[in-house]
Amino acid sequence: TERLLAAQTLKNTEERLRATLEQSPNVAVQWYDRSGRVIYWNRASEQIYGWTSQEALGKTLDQLIPVLEGAVAFKDAFQRVAETGNQVGPLEYRAHHRSGAVRWVLSTLFAIPGQPDDQPIVVCMDVDITERKRAEAALLESESVSRQLYNSMPDPVFTVTSDGKHFLDVNDAASAVLGYTREELLQVGPAAIDAPPDKEKLPERFAELRRTGHIVHETVHIRRDGHRIPVELHSRSINLGGQSVILGVARDLSERKRLQEELQRQRDFAEGLIETAQAIILVLDTDGRILRFNPYMERLSGYRLTDLQGQDWLGALLPPRDRNAMQSVFRAQSGAVQTSGQICPIVTHCGEERQIEWHNTPLRASDGAVMALLCLGQDITERRRIEAELEAYRQQLEVRVAQRTSELEQARDAAEAANRAKTVFLANMSHELRTPLNAILGFSQIMERDPRIPEGQRHNVETIKRAGGHLLALINDVLEISRIEAGRTTVTREAFDLPATLFAVEGMIRLKAEAKGLAFSVECSAQASLPTHVLGDAHHLRQVLLNLLGNAVKYTDRGSVCLRLTPEPGRIRFEVEDSGPGIPAGDLPHIFQAFYQAENGIGKGEGSGLGLTISQEFVRLMGGELGVTSRLGRGSVFSFTIPLPPCSAPVGAVQPSRVLGLAPDQPIPRVLVAEDHADNRALLRALLEHAGFEVETAANGREAVEAFQRDHHDFIWMDMRMPVMDGYAATGAIRALPDGKGVVIAALTASAFKTDRDAILAAGCDDFLAKPVDAERLFHIMGERLQLRYRHAEGGAPSAPQPIPDLTGLDRELRAAIRQAAAALDAEACRKIVERLRPDHPETAAALAALVETFRFDQLLATVEAGQGNRAGT
Ligand code: ADP
Repeated sequence: TERLLAAQTLKNTEERLRATLEQSPNVAVQWYDRSGRVIYWNRASEQIYGWTSQEALGKTLDQLIPVLEGAVAFKDAFQRVAETGNQVGPLEYRAHHRSGAVRWVLSTLFAIPGQPDDQPIVVCMDVDITERKRAEAALLESESVSRQLYNSMPDPVFTVTSDGKHFLDVNDAASAVLGYTREELLQVGPAAIDAPPDKEKLPERFAELRRTGHIVHETVHIRRDGHRIPVELHSRSINLGGQSVILGVARDLSERKRLQEELQRQRDFAEGLIETAQAIILVLDTDGRILRFNPYMERLSGYRLTDLQGQDWLGALLPPRDRNAMQSVFRAQSGAVQTSGQICPIVTHCGEERQIEWHNTPLRASDGAVMALLCLGQDITERRRIEAELEAYRQQLEVRVAQRTSELEQARDAAEAANRAKTVFLANMSHELRTPLNAILGFSQIMERDPRIPEGQRHNVETIKRAGGHLLALINDVLEISRIEAGRTTVTREAFDLPATLFAVEGMIRLKAEAKGLAFSVECSAQASLPTHVLGDAHHLRQVLLNLLGNAVKYTDRGSVCLRLTPEPGRIRFEVEDSGPGIPAGDLPHIFQAFYQAENGIGKGEGSGLGLTISQEFVRLMGGELGVTSRLGRGSVFSFTIPLPPCSAPVGAVQPSRVLGLAPDQPIPRVLVAEDHADNRALLRALLEHAGFEVETAANGREAVEAFQRDHHDFIWMDMRMPVMDGYAATGAIRALPDGKGVVIAALTASAFKTDRDAILAAGCDDFLAKPVDAERLFHIMGERLQLRYRHAEGGAPSAPQPIPDLTGLDRELRAAIRQAAAALDAEACRKIVERLRPDHPETAAALAALVETFRFDQLLATVEAGQGNRAGT
């Protein structure tokens, strides 16, 4: 029984054990025999592997649980346990559930003695740890994400011990920003990089962090290279694995600081502008209330900003009368319109009104809504005042200008009237002066030619002639100047023979120069290219050259005078050089002024001081500029360049030689001389009769008309100024006669004015001759008009042969009468005798008339007494 009891007890124990094994929910227990066949498979094993106990029993481990990982180790372990009986494990491996699902298993193997053969049984106890494994993997994964996150944070992140003394970890951004590696940072710790500007506040901050768990403050981090970075540090107290640590995130404030500073600068600048602007800056809200204005406005208005801030600007600043109008303008504007240049006054604190020009701009928020109105105002009170003053001045000035203009107009009219009077006066004077001069020069020339003039008297005659010539030159100069001043001088542009003109000038100057013992030369720097015929004003050129050369000879006592020509394309340069005294520098600027004479000029006692003035004006009119260089004691050079373009020869250019008389075998023209001045009348009659013309005279216009009606002359010399009837009227009357058209009428005029000449031609004259009469011109005009042929003197012999009347054919009585009349110097008696002779002895009558009209009673007497006619002085 004891054994039975013992067996019973064992059985009970075994059953209890088996029940325990069966019921154990989590531990899968399998028993294997040595060959690895299942001999026991509890219910938990069914759970883990999916095989029931019946299916599993007798199968090998490989058939039931194909081990994926750790298979070799498990088989090894099984083998070892089977052989040694020692325990192995626990081992972790991955096994397959019957369905194919993977299970993590923790397995412990050991051996127990078996029955009945005592073969050991390998016991395998497995626990399913799949869930635990999954949780572990999940944890690992989440940790790696956190780290990645940590490192990919753009801002530096630090994990710091709770006392703030050591780094536990730093992220990549922290190393990148601060210039240390992670390890270096962990080593140097927070002390090396943190430089808070306010160290003394640190304990306070830690206290707060402990209290609230989170603080934000600004500090400065120092980079490895020493550069300081302003940062905003967010610190949070966290629990890490049961340990309290501080997590810090540093945000770089450099850019924000820079922007802030920039903004501040801009704000300061704008404020500076507003504060110092010399213009009103006024900001109103949309209801027209004053938000602010600047110190300029304070000074101008006398109000402080605080006085008016928040008040309606219309009521505070505008004169009452403008308020309503401005109210509507403001309403319209506050909408958004930008206005410019509106003028609206303000009233200052002390009640003064200032005129302000406003420029208004709405100030908008970023969404475009109008927030306020910015009004810029310029005080234009002063400007207005000045403008008004200026306007008043301008009006005054206009009045003054108008007054002055009318005064000037009066003065101009007066001056013009005076000028006209002067011109008339000069024309009269020139007539009055030239007429007697005509006689003086004419008769002195005639006397000069008389071989019987005693030597002693000849000198006196020469003096008369020279003085007369000088007087004529003076009159001409004065006339020329007045013509120039009246703007009446014009230059012609006609073809002329340049060498002939120069030759004539040379001839006149050479005589004078040689008389003073001076060498005179005309040089051309390029003889070959000097054109023969040129277009220009020969008359004015001759005048200028005669004047300059005349001066040169006049003022030079020793040495030479030279006229030098330099042809240039289309122009010619003229230089008149002398070796005279030169002109003092002080006089040089003045010698071209009218009537100015330097000392040597005054010393000569002649000249008018007009020559250079006239020359300069002529040169200017001809297109040049008269200049002078002079060295005292060495001489002077007067020079000018004028356009004288070459051209072809003018038609009918003949070199006239002196006329002796009419050539034979042609009708003798009958000439009427109408001249009130007896001497001139006689002179002309003598000249013309000498030349063989038939001459009748008239003392005024009326007589001339009557004479013409009677005798129908071929040619009339008509003095234009005569008493009773002047030349204009007489010409008109003659032209009005039935046969008054055919006669040639030529005017004799002392006027040098072109206007007078035009009037003369308009009156019906065909030509005119200026007084004093030039015989050659006179003959030339008649020859042209009447188609005459003349006998000419050979060469240029100066002395004209004096025609001596042949009295041999006259009876005694007549000769006696002539002698008596001549002895009595009775011209009238002589003329009567001449008239008696004319029908039968026209030639003798003409010769006698010439002597009578030239008052050569001496010669007349001599001829009669000689009793015979022969020609003297041939
Ligand atoms: P004038 O009738 O006195 O010659 P001009 O007008 O011709 O008047 O000359 C003005 C002045 O210039 C003269 O008075 C003289 O003093 C000076 N002058 C002109 N030409 C010469 C010269 N070739 N040499 C020296 N002095 C001269």
